[in-house]
Amino acid sequence: MTWHQLTTEEALLKLNSSPTGLSAEEAAIRLTQYGANIIPEKSGRSAFAILLAQFTDLLIIILIVSAIVAACIGDLKDAIPIIAIVLINAAIGFTQEFRAEQSLIALKKMAGQTARVVREGTLRNIPARDLVPGDLVLVEAGSVVPADLRLLDTARLQIDEAALTGESAPVEKTSRVLTDRELPLGDRVNMAWRGTVTVYGRGTGVVTATGTKTELGAIATLLSEGVEPKTPLQIRLAQFGKRLSAAILIICVILFGVGIQRGEPLVLMLLTAISLAVAAIPEALPAVVTIALAFGARKMANRNALVRRLPAVETLGSVTCICTDKTGTLTMNRMEVTEVCVDGNRLPASAISVVMPEPAALRLNDKLTILITAAVLNNDTRPGESGSLSGDPTEIALTTLAESCGFPKEVLEQRFPRIAELPFDSDRKLMTTFHRCGTGIVSLTKGSLEAIAGRSQPEQTSVAAAEAMAAQGLRTIGFAVRYWDKLPEQITSETAEAGLAFLGVAGIMDPPRPEAAEAVQLCKSAGITVIMITGDHASTATAIAESLGIASADDPPAITGKELEQLATGSLAELAARTRVYARVAPSQKLQIVTALQGRGEFVAMTGDGVNDAPALQRAEIGIAMGITGTDVAKGAAAMVLLDDNFATIVGAIEEGRRIYRNILRFIVYSLTSNAGTIWLVFLAPVLGLPLPLLPVQILWLNLLCDSLPGLALTAEPATENLMRQPPIPRNEGIFSCGRGRWIILNGLVLGITGLCLQKYGIATGLPWQSMVFTYLILSRMAMALQVRSRHESLLKIGIFSNKPLIAAIAATVMLQLVVIYLPFMQEIFRTEALDWRALAAVLAGATLILVTGELAKLVQRWLHKERV
Ligand code: ADP
Ligand code: MG
Repeated sequence: MTWHQLTTEEALLKLNSSPTGLSAEEAAIRLTQYGANIIPEKSGRSAFAILLAQFTDLLIIILIVSAIVAACIGDLKDAIPIIAIVLINAAIGFTQEFRAEQSLIALKKMAGQTARVVREGTLRNIPARDLVPGDLVLVEAGSVVPADLRLLDTARLQIDEAALTGESAPVEKTSRVLTDRELPLGDRVNMAWRGTVTVYGRGTGVVTATGTKTELGAIATLLSEGVEPKTPLQIRLAQFGKRLSAAILIICVILFGVGIQRGEPLVLMLLTAISLAVAAIPEALPAVVTIALAFGARKMANRNALVRRLPAVETLGSVTCICTDKTGTLTMNRMEVTEVCVDGNRLPASAISVVMPEPAALRLNDKLTILITAAVLNNDTRPGESGSLSGDPTEIALTTLAESCGFPKEVLEQRFPRIAELPFDSDRKLMTTFHRCGTGIVSLTKGSLEAIAGRSQPEQTSVAAAEAMAAQGLRTIGFAVRYWDKLPEQITSETAEAGLAFLGVAGIMDPPRPEAAEAVQLCKSAGITVIMITGDHASTATAIAESLGIASADDPPAITGKELEQLATGSLAELAARTRVYARVAPSQKLQIVTALQGRGEFVAMTGDGVNDAPALQRAEIGIAMGITGTDVAKGAAAMVLLDDNFATIVGAIEEGRRIYRNILRFIVYSLTSNAGTIWLVFLAPVLGLPLPLLPVQILWLNLLCDSLPGLALTAEPATENLMRQPPIPRNEGIFSCGRGRWIILNGLVLGITGLCLQKYGIATGLPWQSMVFTYLILSRMAMALQVRSRHESLLKIGIFSNKPLIAAIAATVMLQLVVIYLPFMQEIFRTEALDWRALAAVLAGATLILVTGELAKLVQRWLHKERV
């Protein structure tokens, strides 16, 4: 017998499960027995692939080959250090990239799917990978089915099985037994398959297979993840890198030619030219960007912003506009019914006194009693862990109200069993349930005030009272009832949600998050517009928006979904410039709003949680899904997941994004400037008739030492105070805009010329000039690292010690260089000589000059800026 031919009882029995689910112990035993519910995927790069990548650079290969050739010709002593340094460099590169890869894998695990299961009779959220056969799983609109299920109970459940069968129309599901053994997968409508997407309704099923045993697992045992797209910065770096490489290669060829012309040894010139090329060509920069982004992503995850697409870390800094949900994001989502309004009379929740209706007695003579009954029955909350309730916060609030009135859910559900339903969706903003009531049937409907009012005939006083509640920032949920002799043939919104009798309204308080107002303020100073998009009532939304500072009384009024619908195409673009609140919006309209904002040149971050939010999340530059209330579909479409659903977390992530972006640029500027200096020096010396300033091994050492430690420390630069007082980073900002290109060229020139002077001085005075130049280059790079920390502010102002890792890195680098200069063993390898106090003083003077010219340049910059302002 296959699963679809079994009755639900038989299926449960065969799986040794029950309607209350497995026990925790049994689940643990089965987990070891069946293994985790995962389909292994070929994710990320293997350690070996990363290692290999360190040696795929053609120049590195040429360098190694030349060194080996040199060794064969006889110069073993020069070749071995060169190869050793190349290997150390590769080892460092490998460790960095491997660690970055590891933290990306860890992030991916954090972003893993969760499943709602019933175990020991209570509903809980567990990682989907812990599911075992026999588990009872709940699916609802927006969730991806986490394992293969035999459905036990369905409520208008529709599942999109395109991922498995290719069929694009959603399949209506049922829990009935099917008889035909040979049914194709798509026709086994009492089953739900792993990896397919619930688009409507809800259902419960028992897990029949997990992991590779599922139908999806059978066809896709090795899923390979798509390649990470490159970030804008990486693309720009790659383009620029090509041109730079060409330029450097030409310089190296000329250098080689000039050297040979002057009678330098061939092998030495060859190694020098190649070493210079290897050191100066910024091959590793794109990898450095990836590493910085990966570590940035880890840091963001610690602050509850889980990045799903790495480029988002970089582009977050360019966000100019955040479109955010209200409920749960700006508010606490800790809802409480504070009052109820029947016949236009507002009644505090504490003052409600009603008696639970007897079975079969739910007549329309006491609206308040029916309203409270509806609050319990038209409600999908379930008992959760440790006595709490699990479900939608609005419904939890309603259940809590009813229970405080002495209306326990279990008792009422027995008296008026639910026989059919129309689930809630954010487009209709309604939910209806049908209950047996004696010999008849009663349907209870709840939803937004407008939707309920449109289907029943409330008196004007009731509507006015409800509007007044909304204007105080309360969420208003309307209730209505209808009596039936028998169930309508077709239960659709048209048949079942029409001709209702209005009952009243519940007013729910959902206080704003205390940190939200501050975060909104921060956005304002950072040039970021905050826009609220909500399904709630316009008055409720406006009240909350004003209390948080998102909108003020001078702003244009909230636009509602209905008004959006009627707007002429094109006129939204204009309105979007000033509108801060969109209310009663259907999820599909979010797409319209993002598009209008993008048309105005905004770089949009958009939040969402429901299945219908996915298109807008995908369209926005940064789609942000809710971690707690978000559906799998929304998470799948988003670039980032908010683990705490908190608005302030978005703002924190943007700040972090700006910081990371700036720090990557700092590293790039530092690295390019230093290399420019070395190139000027090595290239100009022979042209000016001086001997080659550096040996190949020294060039490589310089590169190894200065890019690794201080370079890495630069990405640890803390956020400057005014980071969130600047406008967003222009999305097309080039690497060399804002004077960075000029900075690199001028400072590189100063570095190089100072080096030449030092060399000339050393030769003239008979000092060990090569060791002097060598040490000067290391020290001046340290000065450069300190300089790039701020483009305008003096080092003294930002504080020399405010980036501790950098100070440590500089100290370590200087120590290592001293070892190279003074240790006899090292002197032999690097061909260095000890520097006496005179030589040392000259070197220090040169490095100090770099610090001083840098400070002077900033002084001029500040002065020019002041002129302009
Ligand atoms: P939000 O944008 O605030 O998250 P939703 O789309 O979740 O809004 O809900 C919009 C409106 O739908 C609410 O203001 C409320 O009137 C109604 N509503 C929300 N949840 C339910 C529910 N479970 N049943 C019926 N109506 C609901
Ligand atoms: Mg919502």
